[in-house]
Amino acid sequence: MGTRKTATAKSEQQDLSLSEQPDSYFRKSRFSALGSDFYSEVSPTPLTAPFWVSCNTSAARLIGASPKELFGEQGLLLFSGNREIPGIKPIAMLYSGHQFGVYVPQLGDGRALLLGEAQGSEKNMEIQIKGAGQTPYSRGADGRAVLRSNIREYLCSEAMHALGIPTTRALCITASHDPVYREEKETAAILTRLSPSHVRFGHFELFYYRQQPHLSLHLANFIISHYYPELQHEPKRLMSWLKQVGIRTARLIAKWQSVGFTHGVLNTDNMSILGLTLDYGPFGFMDSYQHNFVCNHTDTHGRYAFSQQPRIGLWNLHALVQSLSFHLTQDETLEILETYTPVFEETWLGIMRAKLGLMTVQPDDETLILDLLDLLDRNRIDYTRFMRQLSRFNSSAQPHDNSALRDTFPDRDSFDAWANRYARRLSQENSHPVERALHMNQVNPKYILRNYLADLAIQQARQGDFSEIDRLLALLQHPYDEQPDNGHYADLPPEWASSLDLSCSS
Ligand code: AMP
Ligand code: MG
Repeated sequence: MGTRKTATAKSEQQDLSLSEQPDSYFRKSRFSALGSDFYSEVSPTPLTAPFWVSCNTSAARLIGASPKELFGEQGLLLFSGNREIPGIKPIAMLYSGHQFGVYVPQLGDGRALLLGEAQGSEKNMEIQIKGAGQTPYSRGADGRAVLRSNIREYLCSEAMHALGIPTTRALCITASHDPVYREEKETAAILTRLSPSHVRFGHFELFYYRQQPHLSLHLANFIISHYYPELQHEPKRLMSWLKQVGIRTARLIAKWQSVGFTHGVLNTDNMSILGLTLDYGPFGFMDSYQHNFVCNHTDTHGRYAFSQQPRIGLWNLHALVQSLSFHLTQDETLEILETYTPVFEETWLGIMRAKLGLMTVQPDDETLILDLLDLLDRNRIDYTRFMRQLSRFNSSAQPHDNSALRDTFPDRDSFDAWANRYARRLSQENSHPVERALHMNQVNPKYILRNYLADLAIQQARQGDFSEIDRLLALLQHPYDEQPDNGHYADLPPEWASSLDLSCSS
């Protein structure tokens, strides 16, 4: 931890007029009013000679800020840890959590600092810098984040938002040539992210295991009053709130499943109390469909495999509910937990029906969908491309006439058998094929952040060329549009993509 300021930082600060100060957007976070049981005040450790990597103007607007003011020289100093906002001390939040099923008594922000809060047009947004140096919760690690992992989080959080999946947002990346050591020597960067709240399930677990139930209740009341105000006056408000957290979590994971997203590290400290996708590490969108896709190579048992995510969501909800069990009856606990699975199933089925262009509900729909996924899994078919192309399925043709789809299957007979069933099912719909295709293209993205695309942007960024980050950002902000000039971004991944390896190191 340090308060070192570069000489340039100081002189540039003096040169700038007040109109270029981003400070006016910031105020103390409401979280900081909870008091010192919940966090530590920490000064960031500055990046040396920082430079911009990418600035997300749409996220700037989210906090009502002018991109020009945010992304000027003062912003560079602020978002690279070289400057603090006068009167607002950055804070590292304290939490714990279950990592790979094992309780870790203390985690906390080991490298992230909350700079404050900004008032957006719709919501207040906490502003957090990630990779800003050591904190009391760093547990011996360096407090840094590498450029590679920042680029991945930056692009993916914006891609998820555009896909309609709840997520934290990404404002900008600053970087420097400071070395950071992971599996190899890399360089340091800081991601600035935005979220209405960064509170995790693990915040509550900390106070349960420390036997401080009054603090978990205090935090729960804070979260309810600020983020679930509609529940304030519910007679059983704690239970109603936890049910809502369960519902949001179930819906979130249903959405992940529908786009083939695997989080990779679904520890309880990475679970947002608002049901947002949080802490992008070794995540992955599947290329070819695999039920048991594991994106994180350190997850040797596949605890967080794609197919396990719905179950893990419930496991994590259980951990959260247990951490508030001092304040709940057994019946209430059961009621909360029993809400999760039906919400997950209903949401997932609803989305998958829409992806198949089914507007009506038929009893065999779930089997039809599950059989399709089995088929894709057995034939190793690219999930995103298949689903997108399905809008062109001609239900009045013979299956082998749907050759664009059919020819991708090594086992054509298995495709034909499913296609016959799908054609029959579509005939019950009475929908017009053109209209159906339009609807399907609004729920089956053409563009996702394939691992290899992120990797190409990272390779170029390491050479000092950040243009591919901005290109991908613009592309992924419109994942459902055809974007004919960018068609190659929806191609099958190249051969080398299958050898890319992701670990927890970030
Ligand atoms: P993550 O795997 O990024 O969700 O992080 C798990 C825990 O380790 C959190 O408490 C992080 O703050 C902490 N952590 C991860 N990487 C670092 C790092 N390089 N320096 C300090 N703490 C870290
Ligand atoms: Mg984390």
